[in-house]
Amino acid sequence: MSFLGYALVSIVGTLLRLVPWSSQTGLLEIGRPDRDSPVLLTCNFRLTVERVRRALRGVDAYLLVANSRGINVWCAATGGLLTNHDVLSVLKTSGIEDRVDHRQVILPQLAATGVEGRVLERKSGWKVVWGPVYADDIPLFLDTQLKKGAGMRQVRFPWTERLEMAASWAFPISVVLALITAVFWRHALVSAICVVWVLALVLYMSFPLYGRWLGSGFRGGAVLLAVFAVLWVAAMLVLASYAFALGYAPWGEIGRWGVLTFAVLGVMLIDLMGSTPLYKSGLHEDRILKVVLDEGKCRGVGYCEDVCPRDCYEVNRAQHSAAMPRAHQCVQCGACIVQCPFDALQFQSPRGETITPETIRKFKLNLMGKRVER
Ligand code: SF4
Ligand code: SF4
Repeated sequence: MSFLGYALVSIVGTLLRLVPWSSQTGLLEIGRPDRDSPVLLTCNFRLTVERVRRALRGVDAYLLVANSRGINVWCAATGGLLTNHDVLSVLKTSGIEDRVDHRQVILPQLAATGVEGRVLERKSGWKVVWGPVYADDIPLFLDTQLKKGAGMRQVRFPWTERLEMAASWAFPISVVLALITAVFWRHALVSAICVVWVLALVLYMSFPLYGRWLGSGFRGGAVLLAVFAVLWVAAMLVLASYAFALGYAPWGEIGRWGVLTFAVLGVMLIDLMGSTPLYKSGLHEDRILKVVLDEGKCRGVGYCEDVCPRDCYEVNRAQHSAAMPRAHQCVQCGACIVQCPFDALQFQSPRGETITPETIRKFKLNLMGKRVER
């Protein structure tokens, strides 16, 4: 794909990120692969497919595109929309088995919340390797004989991603607001859209200033309220000063701006934590669960460490044991529980109730915190 085409897909995919966007499933050749070339797999969210292809420039490989209903890997696997069946299906029907002599497939690490490595290996005869979180790290991962350091395993929230999240919220809100203001408040249409984009950019780009204080419980809620109050008051001061500077200060108009900025900030803050990869959404009841490790069952094989996107684990393979020294970073994605071959991990609620690995694997964690069976 040309740079222009890629730029167009990136812009559309970012602005409409909240909407599924499917690309064709099946087998893609990257470069000039041969019978020993690596086989990678990704979801069929169009933006992801193009980003993986771009990251693999200069690499000779096969890329399998599995049906995730046009949704990105993490959300689809967690919500039960990218399953064992979808991966098995593309392995068996794409023709890849006739194209390579080996049977090793590299899956995106974030698919580990819903795709079970052991089940796939048993049913398909393919060995599963969990690749890096980010497509840009794949070439280095391949060059280093599939060694994955902590940096490749962890989700981050860099400024580029924050910029994308700001745009993906600002765009749909702008469209809705444009429709409303075009009817009821026509002269403010352009200014209202500008205010939405400025608020979204300030909220996401300043995330490092307040992000570390977020989290579940009272403190997280208090921080969100404080961010809301600071941004709303700042927005109102700027708007009111501007109006006074122009010698134009109708209180009714300023009141309307107050309501508008209040509503826009409210919508964006409701799921701010869920818009980042660093926290579980405030809309998920699962965020209050904690992962507990049964040391008696653990054999120290390290799947948990390999798939945890928040680097919660330290595994001592020599002593066949695991520990969770960074448990406070957990985002309750469930990947470690799904992949542990000895069922040594499970979720526990604050009241001591447990959710077993079998339940997690069976129902997946869907986007609204409910469990769906597939
Ligand atoms: S908790 Fe499970 S996956 Fe992690 S080291 Fe122990 S046995 Fe392995
Ligand atoms: S420890 Fe938490 S963040 Fe890490 S894989 Fe397990 S559930 Fe996910």
